[in-house]
Amino acid sequence: MFKVSKEFTFDIAHLLDGHDGKCKNLHGHTYRLQVEITGNLYKCGPKKGMVIDFSDLKTIVQNLILDPMDHAFLYDCNSERKSKIAKLLDELASKTFAMNHRTTAEEIARFIFNTLQAEGLNISAIRLWETPTSFCEYCS
Ligand SMILES: [Zn+2]
Repeated sequence: MFKVSKEFTFDIAHLLDGHDGKCKNLHGHTYRLQVEITGNLYKCGPKKGMVIDFSDLKTIVQNLILDPMDHAFLYDCNSERKSKIAKLLDELASKTFAMNHRTTAEEIARFIFNTLQAEGLNISAIRLWETPTSFCEYCS
């Protein structure tokens, strides 16, 4: 069994409603994302000797995660305050991305895991750095 991973970075603006510290204010992060896939090697064909073609993984993550989320205001659509901000940004033609939960590193990591798994990838772990020294791992 092999494990392969690919790294990405993306920027997000968010806030954490109800947080007891400075994260209740609008701020941003440059996230570092590591997508780990577990599997055996293709035995034949153009992908022979690979778990997954890194180029294919890049395309999938680009389309499903980075294109919709990078440089967006990420918000919890259950929060009235955040939804107000998102509505204003939408009206101003600024990028937003709604989630059905709080936008913590943990929930974002789980969302990415589930989104990529639903695409048929054999994801074994998502590691998401919110800062260079703080990261979350969500695994199967
Ligand atoms: Zn934050």
